[in-house]
Amino acid sequence: MFTPRRALFLGAAAIAAAPGRVWAQAATTGPHTLPALPYAANANEAAIDAMTMEIHHQRHHGAQVAALNNALRDQPDFARLPLDELLQNLSRVPQNIRTAVRNNAGGHANHSMFWEIMGGPGGAPSGEVAEAINRDLGGFDQFRTNFNAAGMGVFGSGWAFVTVTNSGQLAIAQRPGQDNPLMDGQRVLMGNDVWEHAYYLRYQNRRADYLTAWWNVLNWTKINERYAAARAGTLRI
Ligand code: MN
Repeated sequence: MFTPRRALFLGAAAIAAAPGRVWAQAATTGPHTLPALPYAANANEAAIDAMTMEIHHQRHHGAQVAALNNALRDQPDFARLPLDELLQNLSRVPQNIRTAVRNNAGGHANHSMFWEIMGGPGGAPSGEVAEAINRDLGGFDQFRTNFNAAGMGVFGSGWAFVTVTNSGQLAIAQRPGQDNPLMDGQRVLMGNDVWEHAYYLRYQNRRADYLTAWWNVLNWTKINERYAAARAGTLRI
């Protein structure tokens, strides 16, 4: 396993290998850590039960963070990259660990975003995001219908996303597995996890019911913050 002592050793090795670069990135380098939920586990009961939240966050996302650090344990140059830069440079990752990095770095980014945009009261979008949804996605009702259809259309496990350009243009996207639009140069405004682990305890096979309920726990204030960050060029994952 990846112990703190091992992490310190790798950090020292990275500094020795690239003294000019490591200091500027010190605050954002690996080992990667599981972010705390920004609310109580029962904060999303209107869509997602507390047990699902706890298992999903601690065990599923937690395991991905541990597996990512483990995959990168002998690759200090990649271990110290910020997560978004790692996802944008998968083709440079050594082939023998590339699939592990793709799946677990993607999962780390996807879930970190997912926790951030929930915990709110749902309802209609507000602010500049509401205007962008009207402009690019046909208004909230059309957007919700098309986004839910995208989630239903993921065969097996994957995600439905809204991507955002640095000029604020929105589009609905799907990805399989734990792929993230950063892997092909796009950024995510928001997204929903349609792996069965995200909904099976309450909804079993009824993914459509989960997709419908999910809108009741969105935090449009946070999504507006992400939208502003995308336009400012500061949105990371
Ligand atoms: Mn998940």
